[in-house]
Amino acid sequence: MAAPQQRTHHYLARLLERFGMEELAERLRPKPEVPGNAIPRNPYLTTQAIEARWKRMNASSACRENLLDAQTVAQMNVYERNIENFIGTVKLPVGIAGPLRVNGLHAQGDYLVPLATSEAALVASYSRGASLLTKAGGCTAMLLNEGVTRAPGFAFRDLIEAGRFAVWATENMEAFREVAASTTRHGRLQDMRLTIEGNHVYLGFDYLTGDASGQNMVTIATDAVCQHILEHTPVKPQYSFVEANLSGDKKASAQSFLSVRGKKVSAEVRLPGELVTKMLHTTSQRMVDYWRMSAMGGVLSGTIGVQGHYANGLAALYIACGQDAACVSESAVGVTRFELGDDGSLYAAVTMPNLIVGTVGGGTGLPSQRACLELLGLAGPGNAQALAEVCAALSLAGELSIIGALAAGHFTRAHRQLARGTKA
Ligand code: NAP
Repeated sequence: MAAPQQRTHHYLARLLERFGMEELAERLRPKPEVPGNAIPRNPYLTTQAIEARWKRMNASSACRENLLDAQTVAQMNVYERNIENFIGTVKLPVGIAGPLRVNGLHAQGDYLVPLATSEAALVASYSRGASLLTKAGGCTAMLLNEGVTRAPGFAFRDLIEAGRFAVWATENMEAFREVAASTTRHGRLQDMRLTIEGNHVYLGFDYLTGDASGQNMVTIATDAVCQHILEHTPVKPQYSFVEANLSGDKKASAQSFLSVRGKKVSAEVRLPGELVTKMLHTTSQRMVDYWRMSAMGGVLSGTIGVQGHYANGLAALYIACGQDAACVSESAVGVTRFELGDDGSLYAAVTMPNLIVGTVGGGTGLPSQRACLELLGLAGPGNAQALAEVCAALSLAGELSIIGALAAGHFTRAHRQLARGTKA
């Protein structure tokens, strides 16, 4: 990646002035010595292992108490399947946004949404957007598609072998389905997409994953399918991997809008102009003007999709509710669109094709995460589709609120007041 030469020159000059060539070389050279604070190898969650780790860390008792408090000690066994090298828990403040009225295919009603964050103004902003949607009668939300992909890759001698393998794979889909089904009660192999690149073949296995977000489920099922493939294919690959990075797992990708990763949801609302003025202190016209300019800003900066800040609400909701926070990288891809109605109303919609959420499995059963799902009324089986619609509705609330603040010129003031505690 190129860097502007003048900035690079100044940076290097400052660096040399600070350290000198000799010290720089010393700082940067590889150091083969064994670290003095290497943690014991046993990654499991036992009292002895935890003690051994704390001993090695040489931390103050206050530091230890902040991470390994009495409640954490009392319930630490529940974390056994969720963490290695356990030393304690991190506390984050949780705020509540809403009520958020969702008129969805699956989500129905007024949701109080727990958001865990250390970012001031976030909960206030989402709560304002939620109130706005609720005052308008709620937003409509529709789950449009579902599926989680694992994409193993197979390498062959040449393109001819790759082609023969691809043909064989398409003829064996039923067998792959049976093998996958033998590993899970709720997961179902739905489809297979083939991508050939030179002598490489990627098989994109698409699964329904019940109420689980499903990444482990599809990995375990696909691993079994890969074993079956290696045992039965007449065209043996030179090597293969259970995931060859074509699934979009934990990254925003250009394929987002062509299919689905997790759950695809659209949410929309039509807000009367008077409500926009009353609650956001601006006009529908100015909201649309801002949206148009920001959409172009997104295009010019090369974002995948065009949206304001889906990641803010999603990260806070994912952390509170035991979702895999790293999946915000793919979940926060989408498109926000605003339009002005002839009557001065504001049409607003979000479309999010990659919501990776679940209400069972992963971190959803941990004590405080389960409590947050319970507050939402979405804990346990039967609720994952509704949770995805709530995620989209929350994102719509967040888009309306932030664009409202920017359109009204209140964006800086809100952050200054709430994060710094100072008046405008
Ligand atoms: P999981 O906790 O590994 O699996 C879900 C479990 O819940 C399965 O044992 C499933 O049983 C069971 N289950 C019970 N009732 C269910 C229902 N109604 N619907 C669906 N499942 C039900 O969770 P996961 O969702 O598969 O994986 C999520 C985790 O994977 C996250 O914590 C994430 O961090 C992690 N992750 C893994 C990878 C990877 O490649 N391995 C990648 C990224 C993230 P059955 O299977 O018998 O149905």
